[in-house]
Amino acid sequence: MIPAVAGVYRPRHPERTVFYQVLFHYFGQFLQEYESRFEKEYGFLRPIIKEVVERYLDCGNPRCGFARIRCPSCGGERLLMFSCRTRGFCPSCHAKRREGWGEWMREELILDVPHRQVVFTIPKMLRIFFKYKRRLLGDLCRAAVQALLKYLLATTGTELRPGVVASTQTFGAKINFHTHLHFLVTEGGEDSEGRSHHLASFQDSLLAEFFSREVFALLLREELISEALVERIAGWRHPGFSVHSKVRAQTRKEAERVGKYMIRPLLSLERLSLDEREAKVCYRYGEKPEEVERMDYLDFIARVTSHIPDKGQVTVRYYGIYANAHRGKVRKAQPVKHPFILVEEESPRIPRRGWAEMIRKVYEVDPLICPQCGGRMRIIAFLTDYAVVDRIIHHLKLSFVAERPPPPHVASQKLLMDSEKGAQYFS
Ligand SMILES: [Zn+2]
Ligand SMILES: [Zn+2]
Repeated sequence: MIPAVAGVYRPRHPERTVFYQVLFHYFGQFLQEYESRFEKEYGFLRPIIKEVVERYLDCGNPRCGFARIRCPSCGGERLLMFSCRTRGFCPSCHAKRREGWGEWMREELILDVPHRQVVFTIPKMLRIFFKYKRRLLGDLCRAAVQALLKYLLATTGTELRPGVVASTQTFGAKINFHTHLHFLVTEGGEDSEGRSHHLASFQDSLLAEFFSREVFALLLREELISEALVERIAGWRHPGFSVHSKVRAQTRKEAERVGKYMIRPLLSLERLSLDEREAKVCYRYGEKPEEVERMDYLDFIARVTSHIPDKGQVTVRYYGIYANAHRGKVRKAQPVKHPFILVEEESPRIPRRGWAEMIRKVYEVDPLICPQCGGRMRIIAFLTDYAVVDRIIHHLKLSFVAERPPPPHVASQKLLMDSEKGAQYFS
């Protein structure tokens, strides 16, 4: 039995993006060639990669079933497809999550005080440790927080507890592996009496100095580097530790914008295109015409999948007065004398404002507005039975395949043709 549906809600066709097409057609080959081609650079193939990519390839796929929605006023019906809800990879699911998070952060987390974005980067030669051992990203975050506390103490003479939202990022502008941290930090903090202190300026070079010491201590503890190497790097004229704190956020709205930048997606779909003749994916990372990164299909897949977070790996953390345990106390007023322990917390569960609201914010269409009468539609059932789903797909003539497959890699073919040509000339 096929429900009498007026149509399918489909805000965008993910399967028509270059991102989807390349993964759809070449992910299998990527897995086959991983060991020989990519293991050396990227480490063992993490099982999460296959899991996430396969789920992503089915995001919005009608074969995976529908939610059936119905308008109580006019009786009109539509179908909604399921999304993959993977973390940090699917462009559409990430965008929805990001909207919800930004709003939650602005309204429920941060205080109405000036903030700063502080970006911490580490020397190129140390980034590799964080590629092979993802759990170290959390330690790196704590190292930066310790540096910040020591910096606050050194510059104000008082132990201050700031509010910090910290995001670990593994990618650079060219989708390359580039471990760095983005912090949203209150300009100052509160002392042990609960009084707040404002810090008008940040001295990046001093903070970077504190940061480098903490990172060295971490890597020495982990026995990943030697004292000799520490001395060598510290002796360089530009050791490669940097702190950038120029971006200020005076209002909550600005802080939300910074926060959303901190958890931005690993690439922008609009900047991606195919060079079909050369069988390359092109990523425009800057505004100048030469600022284009060209990768063959498998190399592109290796890069994008290297940023998929491990299972359970936390990517956003909250410290100090933004840690939950502390937050509750303070919001109920009466500052109590507290010893200076900086509480760290993982991402709290973000209260779901409703998925329909998030879809509306991302795509500027409300999937629950009835297209016939403008009424509010409701979910009445989930359709997952294979036979029913199959009949609906046929009935509505739905398709979900990367329509125009990118041409196969032609390098070897071309080479062959050239050598044949050569043979003709010389024979
Ligand atoms: Zn209606
Ligand atoms: Zn998705």
